Amino acid sequence: MANIENYNFADKKAIVRVDFNVPLDENGHVTDDTRIRGALPTLKKILADGGSLILMSHMGKPKGKVNPKLSLSQIREDVAKALGTDVKFVDDCMKASEAAKDLKPGEVLLLENLRFYPEEEGKPVGIDKNDPAYDDAKKAMKESQKEFAKTLASYADVYVNDAFGTAHRKHASTAVIADYFDKEDKMLGFLMEKEVKAVDNILKDIKRPFTAIMGGSKVSTKIGIIENLMDKVDNLILCGGMTYTFAKAQGGKVGSSICEDDKLDLALDIMKKAKEKGVNLVLGSDCIAADSFSNDAKTQVCSVMDIPEGWEGLDAGPDSIIAFREAILPAKTILWNGPAGVFEFDNFTTGSKAIADAIVEATDNGAFSLVGGGDSVACVNKFGCADAVSYVSTGGGALLEAIEGKVLPGIAAVKGE
Ligand code: AMP
Repeated sequence: MANIENYNFADKKAIVRVDFNVPLDENGHVTDDTRIRGALPTLKKILADGGSLILMSHMGKPKGKVNPKLSLSQIREDVAKALGTDVKFVDDCMKASEAAKDLKPGEVLLLENLRFYPEEEGKPVGIDKNDPAYDDAKKAMKESQKEFAKTLASYADVYVNDAFGTAHRKHASTAVIADYFDKEDKMLGFLMEKEVKAVDNILKDIKRPFTAIMGGSKVSTKIGIIENLMDKVDNLILCGGMTYTFAKAQGGKVGSSICEDDKLDLALDIMKKAKEKGVNLVLGSDCIAADSFSNDAKTQVCSVMDIPEGWEGLDAGPDSIIAFREAILPAKTILWNGPAGVFEFDNFTTGSKAIADAIVEATDNGAFSLVGGGDSVACVNKFGCADAVSYVSTGGGALLEAIEGKVLPGIAAVKGE
């Protein structure tokens, strides 16, 4: 694998997998250009060296069919503005040979949404998984996916993957394409390198104490990460909706709080494992209970073990917040994924805000803090403290899989693993 910093792109055509899956309003206007800005360091380095750019991305889920509402032509002007140069566009990513050949140093070509072709994701379309012909259809699709990737590769001299958000997918443009470049002509972009380094800080280069805060709605969706972290962390805070599964597992009455009744044994098992491994497991002891799932509900503070019928815990209580702060403030490595309450309701943000504040304080005192996974990123943005933590990841699923210890296909393919 080559290194983007040292690579000289002069007179080279670089095909770059970016994540331009940006949100659009009903008129097709970009409402948040964070992802476009995130790719700029890589794109500007290539242009500054005297290279030309072929940009490829997906947008939304067109499921292998052309869908004008998901056309990347809608963001062409935004990309041009961000790069400060004109951007050419080809409305079919399989028909870009001529446009790519004509590119001069410093020029930029944007390809139409890769997922207008089913080959990008490599899943057979129009056939059910239980159909006896499914396996053959899958094999045939894998072959056409290779052809699709080969065509994309033929446009360029060098391949750069800077799309961390899709690095956990083995798609044509994120992984398969890498097979068609020599190892000295494929590399990770700057954004991808930053994400990989942030994950390494959490998983490999751990400064102790290490506190992980896992929140959100359910234990079941976080179990892989919780188990992986159990071998690494000193303090593990489990908060948000998960709290009530743990409380019920211990014989508590949780009213109508969110609770996974089929995960009570799992909760007890997590508690047992934490004890065996010497991990300080911090669970909420009290909560703000509400008499309905709404911002204007009546509230009361109660023990998570004794929530009245008809009431549900929607936020962490004051004693829980004190315990969370105690586990966060002395930490030197911090990972936060998932809110401590229904932070979308302004009246139930206190627990999540307290966690964000404690992380900012610990970061000021020298901790490395990584915030990732959709909702905790929304939290730090809502509380205006995204710049006060060490790193906010752009990857949702990709970040969580990396933290679970899984090898991300998009990274492995470029490294030639
Ligand atoms: P997840 O996608 O699993 O990370 O969950 C994020 C969601 O969990 C957010 O939309 C929160 O509103 C929700 N959440 C957090 N705490 C609670 C709670 N106590 N009850 C219900 N939902 C919650």
